[in-house]
Amino acid sequence: MDSAYNFKEYEQKIYELWEKGNFFSPDSYPDHKDQSFCIMMPPPNANDPLHIGHAMFIAIEDILIRFNRMRGLDTLWLPGTDHAGIETQFVFEKKLAKKGESRFDYDRETLYKMIWDYVQENSEVATGQMKKIGASADWSRFKFMLDPKVVEVVLNTFSKLHEKGLVYRSLKLVNYCTKCGTSYSELEVEHEEKSDTLYTIQYGPLQVATVRPETLFGDVALAVNPSDSRYKDFIGQNVEADFPWGKISLPVISDDYVKTDFGTGVLKITPFHDPNDYDVWQRHLNEVSKPIAVINHLGKTTNVPEQFSNLNVNKAREAVVLALEENGQIVKKEPYLHTVGTCYRCKRVIEPLPLPQFFIKVKPLVEPILEALDSKKLAVHGAGHDKILKHWLQNLRDWNISRQIVWGIRLPIWYNTEETQNIQVVFVNKDKQTINSLLSDAIKQGYSLEEIKSGLQSINVPDTAEYVVSPTQPDENVNWIQETDTFDTWFSSAQWPFSTLLASQEQNDFARFYPTQVMETGYDILPFWVMRMLMIGKFVTGELPFNNVYLHGLVRDQKGQKMSKSKGNVINPLEIIEKYGADALRMALVIRSTAGLDKSVGEGDFKAMRNFSNKIWNAARFITTALDLNIKGQDETNQAFIKKMSEVEAQVTQQLTNFKIGQACETTYEEFWHWYCDVCIEDTKQQKLSSDLLKDGLKRFLVLLHPFVPFVSEAIHQELNQTPNQPLIAKNWPL
Ligand SMILES: [Zn+2]
Repeated sequence: MDSAYNFKEYEQKIYELWEKGNFFSPDSYPDHKDQSFCIMMPPPNANDPLHIGHAMFIAIEDILIRFNRMRGLDTLWLPGTDHAGIETQFVFEKKLAKKGESRFDYDRETLYKMIWDYVQENSEVATGQMKKIGASADWSRFKFMLDPKVVEVVLNTFSKLHEKGLVYRSLKLVNYCTKCGTSYSELEVEHEEKSDTLYTIQYGPLQVATVRPETLFGDVALAVNPSDSRYKDFIGQNVEADFPWGKISLPVISDDYVKTDFGTGVLKITPFHDPNDYDVWQRHLNEVSKPIAVINHLGKTTNVPEQFSNLNVNKAREAVVLALEENGQIVKKEPYLHTVGTCYRCKRVIEPLPLPQFFIKVKPLVEPILEALDSKKLAVHGAGHDKILKHWLQNLRDWNISRQIVWGIRLPIWYNTEETQNIQVVFVNKDKQTINSLLSDAIKQGYSLEEIKSGLQSINVPDTAEYVVSPTQPDENVNWIQETDTFDTWFSSAQWPFSTLLASQEQNDFARFYPTQVMETGYDILPFWVMRMLMIGKFVTGELPFNNVYLHGLVRDQKGQKMSKSKGNVINPLEIIEKYGADALRMALVIRSTAGLDKSVGEGDFKAMRNFSNKIWNAARFITTALDLNIKGQDETNQAFIKKMSEVEAQVTQQLTNFKIGQACETTYEEFWHWYCDVCIEDTKQQKLSSDLLKDGLKRFLVLLHPFVPFVSEAIHQELNQTPNQPLIAKNWPL
């Protein structure tokens, strides 16, 4: 053995030894038990470089996987990457913008192919980095969320939800540009300061401040703050206002959203034209009537009194204000500076508009999960996060699964173009012009349905339209058009524990590995991902996808601060590996960590854990090269050693079995350094402990150390035994 451990020399070599020998595949262990142990790797975004949070989950999951594999369980860690819908499309569009292009230059199929190629280029980077950390995942079973077989499973799930009556279509607000005929994700909306007028309107007995009098026809309520004593007698009452176009009667509701010091402290609630008002409406569904849209997708007024109809927003505002002024109902006009969303393409102000979208009824999906929590069939390891999960489940609203983007799985929804009225289409024609019009008008202008479909960017179909659910075009003899919305990213990732196994080339994988044993991930995505995996997994397969949830915390800097680029305290895991080795990175992240709580690390921790790797190496080197092999020792010390060694093994085993991973790591570290090295090696030097026992202890410790520091332990094992076909990774755990 070399005098010092040079991790740079060993890590890559060792990983290749495992990978070439197929030691990550459960199929390489025919003598393992029938009992399986399976973890689905939380799929990182395919085009993201790894950050310290990824290193955390890889370290923890790899520890559990190596431990259970060594215990002789049929062990699978299935890796993959996610398409990460909106985020990825957004990043890609920024790349396009650098070339002076945008998504509007492409039909959806072309755009999809371009993003696909871009993601594939980057996907290798992420997996290469996971390997550097030592991930013993079965790369032969790697899955990408948009692999055709995974997509097939996702579409089947949607059909099943639809068959069971759990899918419905309803209006939901989107950020819409009425000029470009498209909606935008939150990420894409630009914000700018705009000076407008704040109008105070006499609304029956109350005065209401608003910047948008033209949406008055879409009001469903007036709202005040529950603590505002000025209006407490109005709450729950109806107020009546006599406007030039007729009488309006609205309920007064109370909601914390209303600020007592804004305007008069009374707001009008227009759910279909303001996202905050939409949220207020959702909290008061029983108190108010269903709203109507008074601005359409072309930016014109609709469903309003004749004299204001079919005007664009600014004209409508002028007309309404004039009518109110003539009636003496404008109490005050004051300049008002506020931030509005704008279209990054044409700079027009974004109009929040209701768009028909697909929803899943969650109540029937939530109930079995609440039962599993109550009956302890489902355990959440993570400092009280079981209660948080319960709270989320109890308060979950129906799930909007429609996203108006290209990069995702297109909804298997079909509309009959011959029977459906008022389909709005946006498409790129042969001359590369974008056309935004009603389908019937486009056809009248001489476009064929095929041309429209091949250049299609999006469609907007009235919420009353009938539709058919089918993975492929339902019937050759009808002119169908497919919904252009794609699924929410979480809808496909919610199926990850079973879609990956059902899509496997190995016929038996689903039966063999489902349900999985534990879902390990960050607590920050508990409601988005973990909860939805439980709901959908149980619904589709009849079983919980896993019985244990292990939540790790955020990784913070040594002062306990969140890492951020602006603070300059971000730790790049690859730089740490370069400086101190992968084992040091893993140890520093995991040791003394507690499920559900954040973990602070700094340079000092990585250094200390590199010293630990060196300590193991030096101990092994001493024992194999410098030790006098004829020391018999004293009975008492020998017996005590045998007893304690077994106790350490039992303790680490128990801690890992109970998901006390940070503690197991600490036990191994402490006992190896401060008992084995500090006490036992000294005992042998002083002739008290048998050299054979000490040597045996090293072998046994290498096994215990392996899940935590796989590289240095394997490197020593190989130095001592020279058996690449029987590596430490495949050794038996003692208990
Ligand atoms: Zn625009």
